[in-house]
Amino acid sequence: MFAKVASVAVVGLDARRVDVEVDITGGLPDFHVVGLPSTAVKESRRRVRAAVVNSGRPWPQRKITANLAPSDLRKDGAGFDLPLAIGVMASFGEVPLGPLSKYLLVGELALDGSLRPVRGALAAAMFAREQSFSGLVLPVENHLEAGLVTGVDVIGARNLAEALAFLQGDMDPPGVAAAASDLLAAGGAQGPDLADVRGQAGAIRGLEIAAAGGHNVLMVGPPGCGKTMMAQCLPSIMPPLSESEALEATRVWSVAGLLDADRPMVVDRPFRAPHHHASAAAIIGGGSPSPLPGEISLAHRGVLFMDELPFFSRLVLEALRQPLEEGAIRVVRSGWSVSFPASVSLVGAANPCVCGRAGSLRDPCRCSPGRLESYRSRLSGPLLDRMDLWIEVPRLSEEELFGLQGSEPSADIRRRVMAARRFRDQRLAAEPGDGSELRRLRAPVRSFLRRTSALETSSARSLDRLLKVARSIADLAGAPDIDEAQVAEALQYRRNVWGLP
Ligand SMILES: [Zn+2]
Repeated sequence: MFAKVASVAVVGLDARRVDVEVDITGGLPDFHVVGLPSTAVKESRRRVRAAVVNSGRPWPQRKITANLAPSDLRKDGAGFDLPLAIGVMASFGEVPLGPLSKYLLVGELALDGSLRPVRGALAAAMFAREQSFSGLVLPVENHLEAGLVTGVDVIGARNLAEALAFLQGDMDPPGVAAAASDLLAAGGAQGPDLADVRGQAGAIRGLEIAAAGGHNVLMVGPPGCGKTMMAQCLPSIMPPLSESEALEATRVWSVAGLLDADRPMVVDRPFRAPHHHASAAAIIGGGSPSPLPGEISLAHRGVLFMDELPFFSRLVLEALRQPLEEGAIRVVRSGWSVSFPASVSLVGAANPCVCGRAGSLRDPCRCSPGRLESYRSRLSGPLLDRMDLWIEVPRLSEEELFGLQGSEPSADIRRRVMAARRFRDQRLAAEPGDGSELRRLRAPVRSFLRRTSALETSSARSLDRLLKVARSIADLAGAPDIDEAQVAEALQYRRNVWGLP
C-alpha cells in the first residue's frame, strides 16, 4: 500500500516541491524516514505517531517507510509532520487519494494532534498557485498569510482531525480571508512623526532629499540629539508601500517566521535597527541548516538603521557593500546558496568623536589626539564612502529649543517626496540617457563646480554621488536641469565638511 502527498521545503525565499511517499509493508512494526532529512525531520516520527494516536486514529502495526523526494534536497524543519501523518493514514486507505493529489500539505504537529504554524507559508501558497494545485492545507495560524495569494484555496486547520476531515470531503474550503489590498489600505501602526521633532530643520531637509532620491544617509551628531528618532521617521516620509512591494517584504518576514496570525502582512515600510554587536550572519543572513534572511533583508523596501555605525565590525561593514549596490544578497555556505532581496535605505548614525563633543563650542571635545585619530579612521571605512549624504545633527540646548514649534508633519513632506519621484520617473522616461549627470551639466554650473574645487578634489565616484544628490534636490524643485544653488546645497552634505579626507 502506497500513498504520495505533495509538500514543500522552503529554501531561501522559494518553496521547492517535496513529495512525501509512504509505503506500508509486512514485517516488524517500524517507522522510517529516508531522503536526506535533517535531525528535526527525523524527530518528527515520534510527533507524527503521537499526533495520529491522540487524534483517535489507529496507527498501523506494520513496517512503514516514508521517503522525502527528491533525495538530494536537504529537508529541514517540522513542516513535513502533516504530510507524513496524512500519508500514513492514506496508505492504509483512510484518505481518498484523488482529492489528496490536488492539495499541498504543510504543518508541524504537536503531540496532541494540534497544528503549529510554519515559516514560509506565503512562498508555499505562491508555489501551490504556480504548480496549479487546487489548494493548500496548512495550520490555521498561517491561513491569513497564505490567503494573500489569490487563485488557490487555503485551508487553515487547527489540528490533524480538521485537516483529515477536509481531505475526506467532510468540510468545505473556507472563503478568502482578507485581500492584500484591503490589509494594505487599512495600514499598520502609526510610527513617529517629524511633527514631534523640534528644531533640526537642516537635518530634516537632508532626510527629505534622501527619501526623494533613495540615498543612503549618515547622521553625525552628539548623543541625545535625536538621531534615532529622526531615522525612525524616515519611513513616514517615504512613499507608502505598493502592493507588490508589500508582498515582497511579507515573503521575507514569512520565511523568517516574524508574521503573526493576526498581522499576516507587512503593510508599512520596515524599520530595522540591529545593534552594533550583531554578527555578520544576523545582519546579512545565514544560519544552519537552512539559511534565514538577515536584518538587511528584513528591512527590504524600508530602512536599515545602524546606530553607532563606526562600531559595527569591519566584517559586517564589508559584507554590506555588495547588497547595497545590488539590492539583493547572496548567502553562500557549504552545501547551499540562496539569494534574499535587500533593497534598503541605509541610515547610519555616528557621534562626531568618542566623547561626542567634537564641534561643540560650549563643551569642547576631551578626546586624546590618538583616540580621535583612531575614531576618524573608522569614519572613513569603505562603507562610509557609500553614504551619499552626511547630515549634521546638532544638540540643541533648552534655550535654543524654547519657543520652537514642532516641525512640518511627515505627511506634508511625503507629498513632496512623492511628487519628486514622479517628476524623476517622467524625466527618465522622456530622456533615458546614460545616467551621467556630469555630462549633462550646463556650463555655468560646471564652472561653479570648478570654483568650489570639487572637480579636482573628488574621485569620480564621489563626484557622481554629489551630482546625484544635487539631481534629487532639483527633482524636489521640479527643475529639469541642476543649477548652482542645488549643487551648493549638495556640497553641504559631503563628509569633507567634517574635515575627513
Ligand atoms: Zn571627543
